[in-house]
Amino acid sequence: MATIPHTGDFQWQGVDVLKYKEVGDHFKDITRQKLYAGCPDLPTELRYFEIAAGGHSTLERHEHVHFIMIIRGSGEALVDGQVRPLATLDMVEIPSRCWHQFRATKGAPFGFLCIVSAERDRPEHPTDEQIAEMKKDPTVAAFIRY
Ligand code: MN
Repeated sequence: MATIPHTGDFQWQGVDVLKYKEVGDHFKDITRQKLYAGCPDLPTELRYFEIAAGGHSTLERHEHVHFIMIIRGSGEALVDGQVRPLATLDMVEIPSRCWHQFRATKGAPFGFLCIVSAERDRPEHPTDEQIAEMKKDPTVAAFIRY
């Protein structure tokens, strides 16, 4: 593996800026770059996600764990039933089976690195009943987008 130079503005040489997900519409103004695809000795992917001002990721949960470091701007995330502020160089672990959503709430791009297992389960989206349960907390109710 050669080096992968940063070419400016949170883009890297030879790395495509992709749609966040190929299907679904429960997200807004977010892109994905796969920086590392893993190998047999290190079956782990490193991705960079960037949410434009006002955008958000999918409200989802899954068996696999994410580990995230913010590298651009600030925003907020729902993790483990709480809305948490996140600023550049903060880190957060998204535990297994934990509902999560990221939002660029500061009027500027919000970007983060995310490590995941190369082999992982598909995300699950909340049912109306699960959303109603989450919305019992007024802070969560005001935050989530779906
Ligand atoms: Mn996720």
